Amino acid sequence: MTNHSDANALGSIQALKQTARMPVIFLGHGSPMNAIEDNEYRRSWQLLGEKFGVQWPKPKLILCVSAHWLTNGWWLTAMAQPKTIHDFGGFPPALFDQQYLAPGFPLAAQEISRSLRQANSGKPVSLDMQDWGLDHGAWSVLKPMFPQADIPVIQLSMDYSRPPTEHYALGQQLKGLRERGVLIVGSGNIVHNLRTLQMGAAPDQAYDWALEFDQTVAGYLQSGNLTALQDFQSLGAVAKQAHPTHEHFLPLLYAAGAVDASEEPQFFNTSYQAASISMRSVIWA
Ligand code: ZN
Repeated sequence: MTNHSDANALGSIQALKQTARMPVIFLGHGSPMNAIEDNEYRRSWQLLGEKFGVQWPKPKLILCVSAHWLTNGWWLTAMAQPKTIHDFGGFPPALFDQQYLAPGFPLAAQEISRSLRQANSGKPVSLDMQDWGLDHGAWSVLKPMFPQADIPVIQLSMDYSRPPTEHYALGQQLKGLRERGVLIVGSGNIVHNLRTLQMGAAPDQAYDWALEFDQTVAGYLQSGNLTALQDFQSLGAVAKQAHPTHEHFLPLLYAAGAVDASEEPQFFNTSYQAASISMRSVIWA
């Protein structure tokens, strides 16, 4: 077993220079249509993007953990030009016409993959040279944020078969990248139940269990109770209703893992889509 620490691992990263610490963001992405509809969520992503290069440095690289890339083991995209993936069905052609042609950053991906350890095996994260690209969890939020597509983007996959603690542990390993100009973006939803959608529900309308889970999680984040955050399944029936499958919750664990206890979360988009998707988003800056 070699002695492994963030500092040692990051010392080997040549592709990214030392920078001021970047924020960490978790975005509730909700309906894919948010990518093209002029609504409060898309406008918030546009405004957020405009703060980079003003309030915070412009990122050298975006590392996105999306609810929509689930793999066996953990993978990083390492192609020079990731393709835009339209991983949904039943939406209008205008959504399938969307392209987000931000470049990849193969050298940085290679170096970062070597610096990360998969929690279960201790192996470096694997490199994906051609299969994935940018799924809609990534591009639907990044395109409004950075419409010029001039910041390289890599995606980190999630091994859904592994327990929440291991996802959080991967997130902790990302922390040092924030001082290398890397913007870490988790993209999922704090409540996500597609079986109970009420189309046309107002943004302030939600099921009782959705409200309860959303507010409980917000409390964990606010109080820094990250052990409880990882143990969300112990909330029982409420957790099961909020996440019949929990892939949309997991990106939050990466974002929370990448911040220090002293960093306070700020919430935005604290409303709901179709009564059963929480759009609550978080920034630690
Ligand atoms: Zn989604």
